[in-house]
Amino acid sequence: MRPWFGKAEEAAVAEVIASGWVAQGPRVAEFERAFASRIGAGHGVAVSSCTTALHLALVLAEIGPGDEVIVPSLSFIATANVVTYVGAEPVFADIDPATGNLTAKTVGAALTPRTRAVIVVHQGGVPADVAEIRAAHPGLIVIEDAACAAGSVYRDRPVGAGAELAAWSFHPRKLLTTGEGGMLTLTDADLAARARRLREHGMSVSAADRHATGSTAPESYLEVGFNYRMTDLQAAVGIVQLGRLAEMVARRRELAARYREGLAGIPGLRAVTDPPYGQTNYQSFWVALPEDFPMGRDELLAYLAKRGVSARRGIMAAHLEPAYAGARAGELPATEWLTRNSLILPLFHAMTEADQDQVIEALCAAAEG
Ligand SMILES: *Cc1c(COP(=O)(O)O)cnc(C)c1O
Repeated sequence: MRPWFGKAEEAAVAEVIASGWVAQGPRVAEFERAFASRIGAGHGVAVSSCTTALHLALVLAEIGPGDEVIVPSLSFIATANVVTYVGAEPVFADIDPATGNLTAKTVGAALTPRTRAVIVVHQGGVPADVAEIRAAHPGLIVIEDAACAAGSVYRDRPVGAGAELAAWSFHPRKLLTTGEGGMLTLTDADLAARARRLREHGMSVSAADRHATGSTAPESYLEVGFNYRMTDLQAAVGIVQLGRLAEMVARRRELAARYREGLAGIPGLRAVTDPPYGQTNYQSFWVALPEDFPMGRDELLAYLAKRGVSARRGIMAAHLEPAYAGARAGELPATEWLTRNSLILPLFHAMTEADQDQVIEALCAAAEG
């Protein structure tokens, strides 16, 4: 992945610097409104990362010690870590190997009387079938980890449209980036107000609002909060990047289609694709190797690296990491198979067709042994 920036991001940052107000302020508020409106969310609360957005979501849902939260193991490890932050227990569920996502059935297999919530990840940008999970498990709080999924489509609406709680990432590994940064989107206005307070030390009035109104009344600290603020420098970049999102998604989908065409001749190779109910933004273009591929996945990564192709292992599985040794994980055969046999190919906005042909040729040569 490589971020796609232009002069407009530079100009936006320069303007914030010239304004003298660089911390959370008017640009953050503007970015929140623009992002929520683009996604079809009621409210946006900008924060420092998707990880901190997920942490706030769990705090707002009042999840804590004694509670279990179902998460896919096949995800960036932050999805599991946030459950640990609030003293609850992450319970790993398996995924559908076609999408890399939880399903109503895999969530059902991980349920216990202590299950309070599920974090549904739209992995690598592929929309998860959230409505199916909600319908099958009406008692569960559903938090969407949409870190990768800005610009993906689910049942003809943007992923995250109308989500009770959804968390987004603006890390440079994702399409829309602010360097670091995240957003929590939610439907409930009171919860949004509490999220705004929690991200800023639990303050009754934000520093930006006190400044804007010239009020000298001291703020009070209504509960123990965090410093999870985004800066106006980041938000200024985010506003410009949001305007580029549609173009970024369109270009990635073109390149993905070209990959699929170029790799179609490799017998048994499976490439990520749209599910029947939506469209991915192809944040990650992964391929899964057939059992009879002439080399193992790690050997293939080294082979590609020697030919100038920087590919990476597929999506990680948290339950296989030392941090979760001893954690509760039932049978996760699809997760283990996919994490071991998949790899992520280079894909970035400015990638040329010649760049891409180099990747395709190297993979086809490897397939021939
Ligand atoms: C990137 C990612 C995160 C973490 O995002 P940060 O903004 O880096 O905290 C969480 N979940 C998933 C699925 C991700 O891909």
